[in-house]
Amino acid sequence: MTIPFYDHTVLYRELKPELDAAVARALEGGRLDWGPELPAFEAEFARWLGVAHAVGTNSGTAALKVALLALGIGRGDEVITVPNSDIGSTAAIHHAGATAVWVDVEPDTGNIDPIQADAAVTPRTAAILPVDLYGHPADLPALRAVAGRHGLAIVEDACLALGAAIGDRRVGQWADVTCFSFAPSKHLGGYGSGGAAVTADAALARRMERFAGYGQDRARHYREGLAAPPLEHRCEGLNERLDELQAAMLRVKLPHLRGIVDGYVERAAAYSEALAGTPVRPPAVRPDNVHTFRNYVVHLEERDAVRRRLAHDGIATGLHYAPPLHRQPVYRETAAAKRPFPVADRLGTTLLSLPIGAHLGDDDCRQVAHALAAAAS
Ligand SMILES: *Cc1c(COP(=O)(O)O)cnc(C)c1O
Repeated sequence: MTIPFYDHTVLYRELKPELDAAVARALEGGRLDWGPELPAFEAEFARWLGVAHAVGTNSGTAALKVALLALGIGRGDEVITVPNSDIGSTAAIHHAGATAVWVDVEPDTGNIDPIQADAAVTPRTAAILPVDLYGHPADLPALRAVAGRHGLAIVEDACLALGAAIGDRRVGQWADVTCFSFAPSKHLGGYGSGGAAVTADAALARRMERFAGYGQDRARHYREGLAAPPLEHRCEGLNERLDELQAAMLRVKLPHLRGIVDGYVERAAAYSEALAGTPVRPPAVRPDNVHTFRNYVVHLEERDAVRRRLAHDGIATGLHYAPPLHRQPVYRETAAAKRPFPVADRLGTTLLSLPIGAHLGDDDCRQVAHALAAAAS
């Protein structure tokens, strides 16, 4: 038995005729720069989420960076976030010119602790950047109260949480900007790199488009006629756009997204059911939250030994995200890393991420759970 961590080819084979046709359409259409696929995808993605505006970017990291730049956050500003995430959450803040201020997380969800976020606010704080770890929403109602009290923006890293919700309000509808990733292994996985930033604010969406597209107004490129107007750079933009081929393929996958997300949730339920009555505790889900389980993560005292035993049984596992950022070579000598993060540290030494995705049958989930329970007892 070999169970890989994830396998994009299962869905590719299911959707191959449509995906191949979409690639051919984009290539034969002759407009790979400022073509029709990107704005079409953005409109469809925004509709799926129930938000007003989506801006396609070439990664989740780029979406975070473009969001911060468009909010005017940069040198001299502080942004409060967590150390137990993808490096993109913190790197985007620093590449925008601002300073990341890490705070510790809640032990059950691993998400930012709103009380500690509140305590970390200074006169320089411009925003809070919560991460919806593994697909479980951060405590957005509490964070909005903190942000409202101090006049801060919320830029949400929902790269793992497409389809998640709190109550009847989807992730995407809570923050000033919510950022998603279309990396191949995410819920809406592209075939390369991609991301999006969504917002209810039309002017902010236009600024994000500019920062992602050379500082130019998008509309300039969509005018009819052979004589394009002169170049006009309205801000110091980058080239961080979602490309036409990714947009074309993501448009094929989007109508299947509900089913894809449900597939993760069903496999998580199969894991949790199979783990009931074993020493391994299934992940917590807060009441009223929809957790979409991009990762199914358990916590084990003897994590490394269990991991080796599972590898011996042919079962791949992951470590998202360990060691946490304050223990990484790039940050560990900085002043920020000297502060204590006892919860993030403890989660980092115990977490184990199980394989999940369309390549796992119910039997596979049961086998993995049984192997895990055996290895952990
Ligand atoms: C995947 C991910 C990112 C980065 O997304 P990319 O598309 O790889 O740049 C950022 N934050 C979190 C929490 C992620 O899971």
